[in-house]
Amino acid sequence: NKTELTLLGLGDMGTALARAWLAAGHPLTVWNRTASRAEPLAAEGAKIAGTAADAVAAGELVVVCLLDDASVGEALAGVDLTGKDLVNLTTGTPAQARARAEWAEERGARFLDGGIMAVPPMIGAPESGGYVFYSGSRALFDAHHGALAVPAGTMYVGEDPGFAALHDVALLSAMTGMFAGISHAFALIRKEDIAPAGLAPLLVNWLTAMAPYAYGTAGHLESGDYTKGVVSNLAMMVEGNSTLLRTAEEQGVSAELLTPFTALMERRLADGHGDEGTTGVIDLLVR
Ligand code: NDP
Repeated sequence: NKTELTLLGLGDMGTALARAWLAAGHPLTVWNRTASRAEPLAAEGAKIAGTAADAVAAGELVVVCLLDDASVGEALAGVDLTGKDLVNLTTGTPAQARARAEWAEERGARFLDGGIMAVPPMIGAPESGGYVFYSGSRALFDAHHGALAVPAGTMYVGEDPGFAALHDVALLSAMTGMFAGISHAFALIRKEDIAPAGLAPLLVNWLTAMAPYAYGTAGHLESGDYTKGVVSNLAMMVEGNSTLLRTAEEQGVSAELLTPFTALMERRLADGHGDEGTTGVIDLLVR
């Protein structure tokens, strides 16, 4: 007796989710604004609803995976959500998730927000390590864990409906910094006789080796002692930064991806914290 599922949104991600649930034998009703995107799924066993309201009426567990929060509001405007369990896998901000939770509860639904840490090919492929952060109604999460765990792993991060989005964005923000660093590294060798394909594995190994830096930072924040276990002190690193910036100049590469962070390190050093690592930068960021 598998849960009657409804899925609104058949973009790249929604379609991958639909296929994972169909493959696992879940009864599934789907709806997409552009109806033609639903057709291929009918052959795979999905029921196609003509309207979002019909789709919602057909399912006990209603999952939405649309472009953004505004499209969720548009798709569900005027739809009866009474007694439904609504799971929002649309990427948004923590404040949007909290407002959407209130909106859903006012309409008589339990609400769970999700942040997908996977790209579509990782959906329905447990070995890929993809997972979804969930926050909001614990009762909904527990009641439907079996169905929710089909497309990807699950990680419940709290009753606050904004926490899934916050965890999602924290990881994506860290990734953005990593992408910036990778971009700068390739820019440095761009005009030289160095093969990008040769630099790539070196970057991967180095970034992997450095990633546990996050544990040290967490230790500093939790103890309040930002000097604990520091093996590369801020005074030394700021000195090293001048080598990074001069090399960029020598290579004819803009340092604009580096300077926001190096400037913060300099400010923290100027405040007299040369024996710390970079944890103090966090205090400069938090307003
Ligand atoms: P797509 O651009 O492929 O699909 C967008 C979907 O939203 C389509 O079904 C589209 O319908 C629908 N849509 C857009 N605007 C509206 C509207 N006003 N009313 C109704 N439906 C609307 O995006 P994805 O499927 O890739 O992404 C969906 C969500 O999943 C996003 O929030 C994204 O951030 C998140 N996500 C995606 C990942 C990815 O790698 N793809 C990774 C992690 C999260 P139509 O077909 O009619 O245009």
